[in-house]
Amino acid sequence: MTDDTRIPVKPEIAEGTWVDAARFQAMTEEAARDPDGFWRKEAQRIAWMTPPTRIKNTSFEGDVSIKWFEDGVLNASVSCLDRHLETRGDQVALIWEGDDPNSDAKITYRDLHARVCRLANAMKALGVKKGDRVTLYLPMIIESAVAMLACARIGAVHSVVFGGFSPDSLASRLVDCESTLLITADEGRRGGRRVALKTNADEALKSAPGVKNVIVVKNTGGEVPMQEGRDLWYHEATEAAPRDCEPEPMGAEDPLFILYTSGSTGKPKGVLHTTGGYMVWASYTHQYVFDYREGEVYWCTADVGWVTGHSYIVYGPLANGATSLMFEGVPNYPDNSRFWQVVDKHKVNIFYTAPTAIRALMRDGDAPVKKTSRQSLRILGTVGEPINPEAWLWYYRVVGEERCPIVDTWWQTETGGHVITPLPGATVLKPGSATLPLPGVQAGLVDGEGKLLEGEAEGNLVILDSWPGQMRTVYKDHERFIQTYFATFPGKYFSGDGARRDADGYYWITGRVDDVLNVSGHRMGTAEIESALVAHPKVAEAAVVGMPHDIKGQGIYAYVTLNAGEEPTDALKKELVAWVRREIGPIASPDAIQWAPGLPKTRSGKIMRRILRKIAANETDSLGDTSTLADPTVVEELIENRVG
Ligand code: ATP
Ligand code: MG
Repeated sequence: MTDDTRIPVKPEIAEGTWVDAARFQAMTEEAARDPDGFWRKEAQRIAWMTPPTRIKNTSFEGDVSIKWFEDGVLNASVSCLDRHLETRGDQVALIWEGDDPNSDAKITYRDLHARVCRLANAMKALGVKKGDRVTLYLPMIIESAVAMLACARIGAVHSVVFGGFSPDSLASRLVDCESTLLITADEGRRGGRRVALKTNADEALKSAPGVKNVIVVKNTGGEVPMQEGRDLWYHEATEAAPRDCEPEPMGAEDPLFILYTSGSTGKPKGVLHTTGGYMVWASYTHQYVFDYREGEVYWCTADVGWVTGHSYIVYGPLANGATSLMFEGVPNYPDNSRFWQVVDKHKVNIFYTAPTAIRALMRDGDAPVKKTSRQSLRILGTVGEPINPEAWLWYYRVVGEERCPIVDTWWQTETGGHVITPLPGATVLKPGSATLPLPGVQAGLVDGEGKLLEGEAEGNLVILDSWPGQMRTVYKDHERFIQTYFATFPGKYFSGDGARRDADGYYWITGRVDDVLNVSGHRMGTAEIESALVAHPKVAEAAVVGMPHDIKGQGIYAYVTLNAGEEPTDALKKELVAWVRREIGPIASPDAIQWAPGLPKTRSGKIMRRILRKIAANETDSLGDTSTLADPTVVEELIENRVG
């Protein structure tokens, strides 16, 4: 389809880039030949109290043990704050843009440092110490970054739970990591509405008795009950606290945070990241993948509740002394031009978002984008799901006016940061491809038996050796870590995703391996068929799953969301079937198409195909865990209008 489209590196981007094509080549070779030497140098990008002498000590065999920089001592908050005070204390560290377009704030590095120290001292006063777990259940406000860094400051392990999660989801995460402190807010704001965080937290705490204290940010000022002896106001607790707090010396392999994955495939796992390797990886990838340059304004639209918010709103950008924008709102409030208005307002240079947002905005046409300037934009990025070439090209042409390279970054909560992605000044782009592994990442494809495939191939995406940002274990369950990631193909890290590698060595993520279809013996990823559907001018979004089929084994069931104003007719269904036949071939023709006004998505915006599979198979009484769904009513609608 668009496999042939190539977008060369732009001379104006290559000029002054951190990594051009030659350097990319040299780095890739050096990192593979001499990982210790390569990472010893790269480790200097963060601040150490004691620099590491042992660099890589990892094994994917047996009990699986991953250690990087193990004798180094550091504190993550020092890399993000203290070391910037002298050179850029008065530079803006965080720009906060409120849900309400009239509210914003700018926080300098000096101010952020003081706020972090105050909260760190307030937590200490409550008895929180190194190794204790602290759960954050906060909206997208400055205090969420402050709280993460304050935990890091005193060596407490944070677990951020997305503010949109229900009391049950919060409770199970509080209990799993045995948190003693919860930091929340009275209420959050999203799309003009209020989110009852404290009320939800109170509900959750009924089943999480291990939590001794709750610190509450007065955010909206809404009435909330405070429990005497347990709950404290953030402003009261921090006002009195000293503005200096010695950073706790942490071993490189001491935990920095636990983060539960978004739950697209099943029960969330408590992914554990440690301090040294994670910080090096967050800084390395943020600098090179976004080609971040001094003074630029960088905006990642993710929520801090996801790993993207951890690595690319807080730790990576702040370690690099960047100005990072944090957005409280949603793309379509007050109207669907909001992203671009914010870009113009704060002169954003680098913009990073998810395919789900791009597809939703594309559905409303070009006008809301075109009425804004966007001249400040230099680099665009995407993460979260495979981006359909159609959506990629729209992003490229309409949003970036063919001026801005797009970095399609493939990675996972487990990988800590980007692993397969273009570099703006080095990589020729192909719409829909995450392109090449970063220097230091040994990606590969294996067949069902675990045999490594050479050259052009399609198979299971694995990583053959460790990289510094890799997760170290599943919290309290190392056996689950081994079983989930290293048992399927012994000796290799298995991502759970499928991919195709083309003749140039470029990777094209085909979707999750669990979602792969087997139609009359032909294996097909969901991404390709979905992209063909989305390429039709009337289609906004599509999700494809397999359904039981007497003859083919599996048939293809497609859920299709049309563009605003399009009529869902039987004639259009026929047209779409013919369209897919033409785009991919008869083997990919959908056997059933259901119009879907909305698709079931996780709170982070990913399509949950396992639920769609159940609906297609008419097994709706066993939908499984739906607690991480953004909007459960979508599912009822789809069940009611099931086809066949
Ligand atoms: P869970 O593991 O709990 O089911 P999840 O996999 O959705 O949840 P994340 O770690 O947030 O949790 O997401 C990582 C996954 O997102 C990847 O494995 C991949 O399937 C998808 N993904 C992320 N970025 C890309 C990308 N650029 N292209 C294709 N797929 C992507
Ligand atoms: Mg996953």
